[in-house]
Amino acid sequence: ITIAGEGKATEARLTYEDIGGLGDQVRRIREMIELPLRFPQVFARLGIDPPKGVLLHGPPGCGKTLIAKVIANETDATFLQISGPEIMHKFYGESEEHLRNVFEEAKKKAPSILFLDELDAIAPKREELGGEKQVERRVVGQLLALMDGLKERGQVIIIGATNLPNILDPALRRPGRFDREIVIPIPDKHGRFEILTIHTRGMPFSDDVDMERLAFLTHGFVGADLGALTREAAIYAIRRLMPCIDFEREVIPVEALLALEVTMDDFLN
Ligand code: ATP
Repeated sequence: ITIAGEGKATEARLTYEDIGGLGDQVRRIREMIELPLRFPQVFARLGIDPPKGVLLHGPPGCGKTLIAKVIANETDATFLQISGPEIMHKFYGESEEHLRNVFEEAKKKAPSILFLDELDAIAPKREELGGEKQVERRVVGQLLALMDGLKERGQVIIIGATNLPNILDPALRRPGRFDREIVIPIPDKHGRFEILTIHTRGMPFSDDVDMERLAFLTHGFVGADLGALTREAAIYAIRRLMPCIDFEREVIPVEALLALEVTMDDFLN
């Protein structure tokens, strides 16, 4: 089988340093996921079970996927990612089998983190599914059964992500399944400052760039928006130097391009 996003999450060696804001959330996730992955004996000693599943919810683009990848990376766990819509559509007719295969893979490659993105697409409330939605009903049932059957507590951790926690089948949020929930919120000014700082690491700035002010001005921006803003600013800086580049005829001023600095105006454009 092929699984999207499979592998040790080595992608550019993501670390906790790559997550802006979310200090409390990351701390809780580390207690619940990193601790049992790295020191399984601690939970055994305390006589409590580590969680099988953790549900991250909150608006799109605030870092749910990023956190899951970072945790896998930092713990050297295998990272497996699958999205709800993909299971339902790409594997239509084989959704349950595919789900079983992904769980098998996660067990085989333990310690592992299985990230189920857009969980709401696989596990909506069963009572709201009409009679014609037999497949959807069976997939929810399959997911519940797979989580119940998971014996590798602490060594295979399922992280679910959704923007719509209230449409999830409530059975999924009971003990032994996704029984821990963490809200990943829209960043506040301090969070935006940290995220902007992360996304502009290594960017050459002119002296007028005021990150505090940018954080203040970007009220309502989520991490994904702030990432896009910094990339846009860099493109604006290039355009400033070369208003309408004619790549065919002009000599590209490489020296000037390499001396380019991103200014506050590039951000505000
Ligand atoms: P979705 O619900 O759409 O899947 P998500 O909450 O999983 O969204 P991510 O995919 O993690 O969001 O975020 C998209 C990108 O935005 C990340 O790859 C990262 O570049 C940036 N980003 C989001 N949140 C943060 C953050 N807190 N710190 C740093 N970068 C962030």
